[in-house]
Amino acid sequence: MENYNASNSYVDRPNAYRHICPYCGNVFYGRKNRIYCPINCKKDFNNNKAARKRERISEDIKTYSKNEEFLHEHCKNVDSTIKLDLSFARMSGFVFFDMYKLGKDEYDGKEWYKIGNYEYRVDEILRLMLIRKYKKANGHDNT
Ligand SMILES: [Zn+2]
Repeated sequence: MENYNASNSYVDRPNAYRHICPYCGNVFYGRKNRIYCPINCKKDFNNNKAARKRERISEDIKTYSKNEEFLHEHCKNVDSTIKLDLSFARMSGFVFFDMYKLGKDEYDGKEWYKIGNYEYRVDEILRLMLIRKYKKANGHDNT
């Protein structure tokens, strides 16, 4: 990685270090510890970072609610655990994310994930997705 500060060199004027802005590439002069050119680039850089973060979060929310819809569609009128073909779930647009992790079920010892009012787990060997309604604390009936 390029070290932009390596270009800093003392010049004979007040506030007098020469920098190259890593954001816009402009040469500017300023205090030794400056990185971005004064005011604009620093602000732009931080704004873009915030915008990228907002985009990422809204994508996550969209994915979450699409996932929830999928679970609801297949599980809403069923009280036992239902089994879906794993590739069917993927083809339907379900996105498997680690952040939905709920933890190991104390009865079956399997890793379950929670979205909204549903929980699911993946059986990689049988290529199945198991879905059931979420039950708070040890209420799992494991049917
Ligand atoms: Zn700049």
